[in-house]
Amino acid sequence: MAEPKRISTTLIHHPYRAPDGFASVQSAVHKASTVLFPNAAALRHRNWKDKTGYTYGLHGTPTTFTLEARIATLEGGLQTLLLPSGLAAIALVDMAILRSGDEVLIPENAYGPGKEFARNELAGWGVSHRFYDPSDPQRLADMIGTATRLVWIEAPGSVTMEFPDLGGLLRAAKSRSVVCAIDNTWGAGLAFNAFAVEDGAPAPIGADVVVQALTKFPSGGGDVLMGSVTTRDSELHLRLKSTHMRMGWGVGANDAETVLRSLPSLDLRYAAQDATARRVANWMAGRPELAQILHPAIEGSPGHEHWKRICSRAAGLFSVIFDARFSDAQIDAFVDSLRLFKLGYSWAGPMSLVVPYSLGSLGRRLNSNRTLVRFSIGLEAAEDLIADIESSLGQAFGPGEGERDSPT
Ligand SMILES: *Cc1c(COP(=O)(O)O)cnc(C)c1O
Repeated sequence: MAEPKRISTTLIHHPYRAPDGFASVQSAVHKASTVLFPNAAALRHRNWKDKTGYTYGLHGTPTTFTLEARIATLEGGLQTLLLPSGLAAIALVDMAILRSGDEVLIPENAYGPGKEFARNELAGWGVSHRFYDPSDPQRLADMIGTATRLVWIEAPGSVTMEFPDLGGLLRAAKSRSVVCAIDNTWGAGLAFNAFAVEDGAPAPIGADVVVQALTKFPSGGGDVLMGSVTTRDSELHLRLKSTHMRMGWGVGANDAETVLRSLPSLDLRYAAQDATARRVANWMAGRPELAQILHPAIEGSPGHEHWKRICSRAAGLFSVIFDARFSDAQIDAFVDSLRLFKLGYSWAGPMSLVVPYSLGSLGRRLNSNRTLVRFSIGLEAAEDLIADIESSLGQAFGPGEGERDSPT
C-alpha cells in the first residue's frame, strides 16, 4: 500500500517510535481498551488468562500487571486480581466460590456492606449465610456444616475494633476444608501475613484468599477506589480470575498508577498513622467523658491479647464509647465541633476523619447500645489532633469535665 496522504490517517498511523531504554522512577500509565496483536496467529493463540501477553484492556496492561505483582508480594501471596472497589473484591470472592445451595459464614462485626451483599444478593441466588461470633473459634467450628463453602474472617472488626483469635478462627475453618477468606484491609499486608499467621502454634496458619480495600492504605490519598483479591493457589486463582473476566470488573489505568505511586510510602504512612493513633487514643483513655477505647493495641481493649500474640503494628484507627450520662445529641455536638477531624467514611488518607455509628445489634458485643465514634487518624501532627479533641470535648460536654478526676 502507498503511504497515506491525509493528515488524519498519518496522525493515527504515524511511523515514529520512541527509542527503547527509557527508565524512570514511577511506572507508566498504559491505557487501553483495544490491545494490538502483531498478526492473526498471535490473536488466535494468545492466552487470555495468564500474564505472558495482552489481549484486551479489561484483562490487563503493563500498569495493572505491575500493581498486581506488588500487591501479591505485599500480601505474601502469588497472584492478585484488581477490582474497582474493596466491596467488589468481597463480591467477587462470594460470586466465584458460592453456588445455589451453599452457605457462607461471616463474622457479625464484619464490614457492613459485605454483610448486606450476603443478605440481599446472595440470598436471592439461593446462597444462605449466617453471622458468627468471632470471639469463639469453637462455635465457628461447630457451625461449619456440609453446605458451608466459604468462611470470612476480618481482624479486627472495622467499627468495633475487637481483634479475634485469628489463628483459632483459621484453624476452625481449615480443619473443615472450606475456603477461608480474610479481609485484610486493616492489616494492609503489614500487621500480619494473612497467608501465614504466626501465633505461637507449631506451624503458621493462613487463609486461601486475602482481600484488601486498596482504597485505604495502599492508596492513602482518599481519592481512589480499588480492591484486590490475592491467592497462593493457582487453581483457586483461576476460578476467581474466570469470574472476574466474566463480570467485566476492570480498573482504570490512572487509578492503578495512583496506587503504584503511593506504594513506596505505604510502610512509612502506616507506621506514622499507627504512632499518632496510639498517642491520641492513649490521651483519650485518660478522659472522664469516655467509657471505653476500642483499639487492639491498647491494653483493656477487646481482643488486645489476641492482637499482641501476632502483631506489633496496628492501623491508625480506633473507636470510642462515651460515658452513658451523655446523650447522642451531645456526642453529635462533639463530632460537629471538631475542626481538623472531618466527617466522612473510609480511612488511611492524609486527613483525619470521624464517623458516629449507632451500634444497634453490634452493641451486644460491647455491652452497649450507644453511639460509637470511630476516629481515623491521618498524617497531621498528634499535638494538633489532641488539641482539637480537647477543645471539642469542652464545647460538647461542658467545661470542668476534664479536671474532674485530676488531682487538685
Ligand atoms: C473500606 C473497606 C472495604 C470496602 O472498600 P471500598 O473500596 O470502599 O469498597 C472492605 N472492607 C473493609 C474492612 C473496609 O474498611
